[in-house]
Amino acid sequence: MSERQNLVILGATGSIGLNTLDVAARHPQHFRVFALSANERINELAELCQRYRPRYAVVARATQAEALVQRLQGAGTEVLTGPEGLERIAAHADADCVMAAIVGAAGLVPTLAAARAGKKLLLANKEALVMAGPIFMDAVRVHRATLLPIDSEHNAVFQCLPDSFEHGLGSKGVRRVLLTASGGPFREVARERLRGVSPEEACAHPNWVMGRKISVDSATMMNKALEIIEAHWLFGAAPEQIQVVIHPQSVVHSMVEYADGSVIAQLGNPDMRTPIAHALGYPERIDAGVDSLDLARIGRLDFSPPDVERFPALRLGYRALKEGGSSPATLNAANEVAVAAFLERRLPFLAITAVIEAVMNELPARPLADLDDVLAADAAARRHAARQIEAMAVKP
Ligand code: NAD
Ligand code: MG
Repeated sequence: MSERQNLVILGATGSIGLNTLDVAARHPQHFRVFALSANERINELAELCQRYRPRYAVVARATQAEALVQRLQGAGTEVLTGPEGLERIAAHADADCVMAAIVGAAGLVPTLAAARAGKKLLLANKEALVMAGPIFMDAVRVHRATLLPIDSEHNAVFQCLPDSFEHGLGSKGVRRVLLTASGGPFREVARERLRGVSPEEACAHPNWVMGRKISVDSATMMNKALEIIEAHWLFGAAPEQIQVVIHPQSVVHSMVEYADGSVIAQLGNPDMRTPIAHALGYPERIDAGVDSLDLARIGRLDFSPPDVERFPALRLGYRALKEGGSSPATLNAANEVAVAAFLERRLPFLAITAVIEAVMNELPARPLADLDDVLAADAAARRHAARQIEAMAVKP
C-alpha cells in the first residue's frame, strides 16, 4: 500500500468500529483516522478522539456536541452533529476509505452518501443494502465506488469468487453461494423453550461478541435472512443460488461452489478483525492481530441444514427477496422495531418474527424508484410494526 489513507468510521464506538480502530492502529503508516462518529457513548468517543486525533467527530445532538467540544479543547477535532454531520464526513473530499458500521436503518443515508462520493466503502451496515439494494448498487456503479463487504460471510464469499464477477455469477462458472450460520445461542433449544427467553440470553452469542441488535438477529436467525438479501445484491446471486448451512464452530465463514463441483471456502478464527483487515488492505494483505487457526485443536467442523420450523426468519428473508421492491425494507424496519421492543422487554422473543410476518402481510411490495420510496417503506413498516407490537405485547 503506497499512500496513507484517510479513514472515516461511521459508528466508531460500536463493536465493528472499535475493531476497525484496532486494525488501523496496527498500520499508522497506511491509515490516518480522519473522522469518527457515535450516537450515545460520548465519553468513549471523547477518549477515541484524544487517542486518534481525527479531524472530525460527529455526534447526534447539539447538547452532546457542546460537551464533546469542552472535552476536546486543543485536540484539533471539529465537532459536527446529526445526519448532516454524518453525510459530510462520509462524502468529504479528503476521505479515502469509509467504514459503514452504524447499526440499522440510521446508517443508510451516510452510507449511500459515501457510495455516491465514489469512496472505498467498507460495508458492515448490511441493513442499508437490504433496504435500498438496487439504489445502493446503482450508486456504487455510477460513482465507481469500491464496495468491500465486512460481514464475515460476504467477505468470505468475496475472497472465494473469481476476480471479476460483474457480469453475473453464471458467466464465471459459479453455481451457488453457501452462507454458513452458527445457529446462534438457541441452535439446539426447543421452540417451546424459546417463548420465555430474556434479552440477556439472546445476546449471549456462542462465538462472536457483537452489538445487541445483531446479537438478537443471530438468535432469531433474522441475521441470516438479512445476509441472504445482502448476498443477492453484492454478488448478483438469485435466491435459489443462495443456500444456508448451519456450522456451529464459525470457522468456515462461507463458501462458493463452481460448475465443476469445486467448493472454495474461506476459514479463520471467528474474529471480525480478519474481514476488516482484508477490506482495509485490499487488494493487499495486512496483519489483523488475529491468532493462527489451530485446526488440530478445533478437531472437527460440523454442518447441518437450518431448521425453518424453529427459525421462520429464514423463510421471511427468501420471501422478501422474491417479492422484491419495498419488501426487504419492510422486513428490515419491522425487525428493527420488534427487536427494540424485545430488548426493552415489551415483546416476547417468539413474537419478533410473528410481528415481521404480520407487517409483511399488511404491506405488499411496491416498486422502489429512489431513496424517498425506501424511506417511505421504512416509515410505513415501523408504524405497522408498532401496532402489531401493541397487540402482541407482554402485559405487565
Ligand atoms: P454496535 O451496536 O456495537 O455499534 C453501533 C454503532 O452505531 C455505534 O457506534 C453507535 O454509536 C452507532 N449508532 C447506533 N445508532 C445510531 C444512530 N441512530 N445514528 C448514528 N449512529 C448510530 O453494532 P455492531 O455490532 O458494531 O454492528 C454494526 C453494523 O455492523 C450492523 O449493521 C451489524 O449488522 C454489522 N455487523 C456487525 C458484526 C459484528 O461482529 N459486530 C458482524 C457483521 C456485521
Ligand atoms: Mg455475518
